[in-house]
Amino acid sequence: MRETFLPFSPPWIGDEEIAEVVDTLRSDWITTGPKVRRFEREFRDFVGASDALALSSCTDALHTALVTLGIGRGDAVVSTPMTFCSTIHVIEHTGARPVLVDVEPDTLNIDPAAIRTALEDQEGRVRALLPVHLYGHPADMPQLLDIAERHDLAIVDDAAHALPAAIESRGIGAASNGPTVLTAFSFYATKNLATAEGGMLTGPEKILDEARVWSLHGMDRDAWRRYSSHGSWFYEVTKPGFKYNMTDIQAGLGLHQLRRLPLFQRRRQEIARRYNESFSGHEAVDLPAHREGVEHAWHLYVLRLRRESLAIDRDHFIEELTRRNVGSSVHFIPVHLHPYYRDRYGWRPEDFPIAYDAYQRLVTLPLYPRMSDEDVDDVVAAVRDILDAHTR
Ligand SMILES: *Cc1c(COP(=O)(O)O)cnc(C)c1O
Repeated sequence: MRETFLPFSPPWIGDEEIAEVVDTLRSDWITTGPKVRRFEREFRDFVGASDALALSSCTDALHTALVTLGIGRGDAVVSTPMTFCSTIHVIEHTGARPVLVDVEPDTLNIDPAAIRTALEDQEGRVRALLPVHLYGHPADMPQLLDIAERHDLAIVDDAAHALPAAIESRGIGAASNGPTVLTAFSFYATKNLATAEGGMLTGPEKILDEARVWSLHGMDRDAWRRYSSHGSWFYEVTKPGFKYNMTDIQAGLGLHQLRRLPLFQRRRQEIARRYNESFSGHEAVDLPAHREGVEHAWHLYVLRLRRESLAIDRDHFIEELTRRNVGSSVHFIPVHLHPYYRDRYGWRPEDFPIAYDAYQRLVTLPLYPRMSDEDVDDVVAAVRDILDAHTR
């Protein structure tokens, strides 16, 4: 058994990141400036987007996207219960109604068939789909784009886990023809690319120009230059905008994290492969879904316990992992179970039976590039030990 506790998901900040942040702190620009612009351009090129807007978080990117699309009171947005609460909070913030539908049994991503049913039943004005690429496995974008096209909807996708990911060679966040797609990434401390806090919105240039104004007080786009020799003191406020800008301190971290991302991802893939090989064929667990034609970002490695084959429940399983010095977590407590949403919309646990059943079986194992081979071995040994002791 491990002597020391293996943390669940620490960041990996290198010397280049540290030097870049110090450089920023010694410069005259510590908030939104040249490094943010450079990070936007490099990120845009990395994912193949038309344009990219750096923001203070993925949550703020999602909110900015919905507001820029003009979504508000009287509108509805279709999304998934199997996500972090902020995916749904942002819909509430606009005054629109979140319409949740159940998930696919294998990927736990939003189920296109359930969306079609909801669009028939829905009386409100559905304006957008808000899928989440859960754990880094893309939602079924070909089907979602088809639905969006037929019903004249936009897609705002939550790509907090999906850097980098692709389905049928279409990169998540990449430029595309057809329905409007705005994609929100997260650079929160635990994510595949970390800037402590931060996010990025990608999409068509024209929409992002307006999103940029919304994201910084509703001031015109070159407002940040007003104190430099290139600009002037004059600006105009055209919207009641937000304060969602990224700082050059964060962008300094992001520039170097982006350079190291391909290396991070190779290591994530290696660890996921090792877990898959170690747990496949075990009767008491289901492995993460990985469909044909999908590039998986492997943000999270999530096992699903088969309760009929296991004498202990998920909570007990996590206690056993902790006792063996292995950190773990649960992604996610479905949104409809949280008291605010349960009470506001009268949602019962069984309203989304696949999400609810999955929730009771989920265990997320540690998966991050800095894990050593021994760390991975320790996790495998701990999981096998628990399964051996408790499989019926
Ligand atoms: C982390 C996360 C978010 C929020 O990202 P922030 O950058 O912290 O706002 C949103 N959705 C999902 C699925 C996440 O995991």
